[in-house]
Amino acid sequence: MKGIIFDIKQMAVFDGPGIRTTVFMKGCPLRCRWCHNPEGLSFTPQLMVSDNGCQKCGKCMDKCEHKDKCISCGECVRVCPMHLRRIVGTEYTPEELAARLLKDKVIYEMNGGGITLSGGEPTAQPEFIIALLKKLEGIHRAVETCGYCAPDIFRTVLDHVDYVMMDLKLIDEKQHEYWTGKSNRLILQNLEQLKKSGKPFVIRIPLIPGVNDTYENKVQTAGLLTDADNLQFVELLPYHTTAGAKYGMIDRCYEPGFDTDRAVDTDISAFKKYDIPVKVL
Ligand code: SF4
Ligand code: SF4
Repeated sequence: MKGIIFDIKQMAVFDGPGIRTTVFMKGCPLRCRWCHNPEGLSFTPQLMVSDNGCQKCGKCMDKCEHKDKCISCGECVRVCPMHLRRIVGTEYTPEELAARLLKDKVIYEMNGGGITLSGGEPTAQPEFIIALLKKLEGIHRAVETCGYCAPDIFRTVLDHVDYVMMDLKLIDEKQHEYWTGKSNRLILQNLEQLKKSGKPFVIRIPLIPGVNDTYENKVQTAGLLTDADNLQFVELLPYHTTAGAKYGMIDRCYEPGFDTDRAVDTDISAFKKYDIPVKVL
């Protein structure tokens, strides 16, 4: 069994308690129009090219045997003198990845940290992450999820983690479908499971100008969280104008469909109304 990941970030301090290693799983079922990790959307390896410093030497294309359609073979990566090309998407077995992550076990233990599985969407590779989480038992394990997966998968993941960071984008189903490509029914169903699980959790809301930063969406979100004793706090993450920077690097266009220059409404009164602790990052 293998999983595919697109990055591993050590010494992460914003992905759960303490100092952590965050694993970014490749592939996501949603297509949020503001996604700032487009290399995490597809489940297959991709060529990623930075043109910052390209000498136009042509060595990459001289080497390429698939000029009509890139097959992510990586041949051009090896010849670029400026190291501007890389293949994103590396396969690991659960054993290989666990062995790599456990090398920093002492650091996690000293700082109350652990491992966070993020993405992309980690629950989209369920067999792999369950096998991995089992191998990491004894280490603090967190998952950062959009919550879009079958309820039985979500329940099994909850059984194998100590901490959850769950994104909530829009409570209105039609709006959710418009901006992310999928209904939020499964997500809201899984939120109810999370609330009942007793696992400590954080809700993260990417605040997108004119999309979900309205008082109405915030108050609807807060209303769903009033009965959650295990909710630690809500984090609001205001949209950043650099979000589209990586699309060109994987040969995609960034077409967010909202006014990226508009100021984000970071008003937190909707959460205060229900005494829900909230942080604006
Ligand atoms: S990875 Fe590079 S060499 Fe391979 S097909 Fe794509 S552009 Fe060509
Ligand atoms: S090999 Fe590297 S530096 Fe040369 S043209 Fe290709 S990307 Fe640019």
